[in-house]
Amino acid sequence: MSEIPASFLSACEEQDLHPSPEQLRLLQAYVDQLLQVNQHMNLTAVREAEGVWMRHIFDSLLLVPDLKADLNQKALDLGSGGGFPGIPLAIMRPDIQWTLVDSVAKKVRFLNELAQGLGMPNVRALAERAEVLGRDPEHRECYHLVTARAVARLPVLLELTIPFLRVNGLLAAMKGEQAAKELKESRRAIERLSVKLMRSQAQPGGGHLLWFKKRRPTHTAYPRAVGIPAQKPL
Ligand code: SAH
Repeated sequence: MSEIPASFLSACEEQDLHPSPEQLRLLQAYVDQLLQVNQHMNLTAVREAEGVWMRHIFDSLLLVPDLKADLNQKALDLGSGGGFPGIPLAIMRPDIQWTLVDSVAKKVRFLNELAQGLGMPNVRALAERAEVLGRDPEHRECYHLVTARAVARLPVLLELTIPFLRVNGLLAAMKGEQAAKELKESRRAIERLSVKLMRSQAQPGGGHLLWFKKRRPTHTAYPRAVGIPAQKPL
């Protein structure tokens, strides 16, 4: 297995993140498999191990201190791609049931094989569009937490994610430096989807984390049909 870069370990230390030896071993196996499969499948543009550890793993772990301690939580990671932030969070919180969703079937196959290979019964990955799954009663209004990183601009992302949440459930939207601008564009989406911005937090590495809380059940009009949320954002 490849070595864990010292830069990652010291960044974790600085943020008071303390993965156990077993969690580090799982993260290491994940990085190795991701880089290996990435040679023939486009899972990430980051091609060297240190970049994956810092830009993907560390960035994902920044959510850990904000995850609630309650038992029996259900979380959904929308647009997981190669597994961020879903896989690192599922490694850090094996007590949470994680559903990873992506519309691209081969990415989902990678995620399911990975989870099986690493022995993570708390992870399942589903190949489906958010617009479809968000109308499925087995998923709609079911989750305590939804995470999403680099999936869509905020007005679109809100329409795709909020239907999955229970009332009082939380969305962690991992955005880039455009977060403030995207928030301004999201006024109508915030109102129509009955969500409240709880916290907006600059992250080490230039990211910006936005926490939303769902206040009321989602109107049956949302999410709209496949492609419409992106074509005609709220
Ligand atoms: N979260 C990962 C991947 C980001 S790329 C990371 O941070 O590295 C965005 C991913 O979202 C892609 O894999 C794409 O297939 C998926 N995606 C985009 N729109 C989607 C939708 N409407 N439903 C499901 N998946 C979607």
